[in-house]
Amino acid sequence: MAKVKKINHIAVVVEDIQSSLAFWEGALGIKLEKVEDIPAQKAKVAFLPVGEGEVELVQPTDPESGTGKFLKERGGGMHHLCLEVDDIAGMLAQMKEKGVRLINEAPLEMEGRKIAFIHPKSASGVLVELYELTR
Ligand code: ZN
Repeated sequence: MAKVKKINHIAVVVEDIQSSLAFWEGALGIKLEKVEDIPAQKAKVAFLPVGEGEVELVQPTDPESGTGKFLKERGGGMHHLCLEVDDIAGMLAQMKEKGVRLINEAPLEMEGRKIAFIHPKSASGVLVELYELTR
């Protein structure tokens, strides 16, 4: 059976990374690792490691993207929870068998990882991302 290993990250959609850092870095004291422009995700992402996982602040760069619409409709907030698994294909097969509604039926290949999203309707209202690190 495929296994969940840990929480990889929690993604929070924000309007502006710099002003959000006043809380996450300034008040909470989490050290900012880096901010990256990720055109494939149509967003800028700030990475804030906490223990073995991290908080990601996602600032959409395109109002028509998924996170762009999320920002417009809800004014930002927690977007998804990412769980790292040891075998993403096995995990997806396991969930299909149990009737879980998936957004990605097959893993998407990204640099250094494979990912897939699970529909919030099947996950207590939370958008769940699965990661399998490939290096
Ligand atoms: Zn994510």
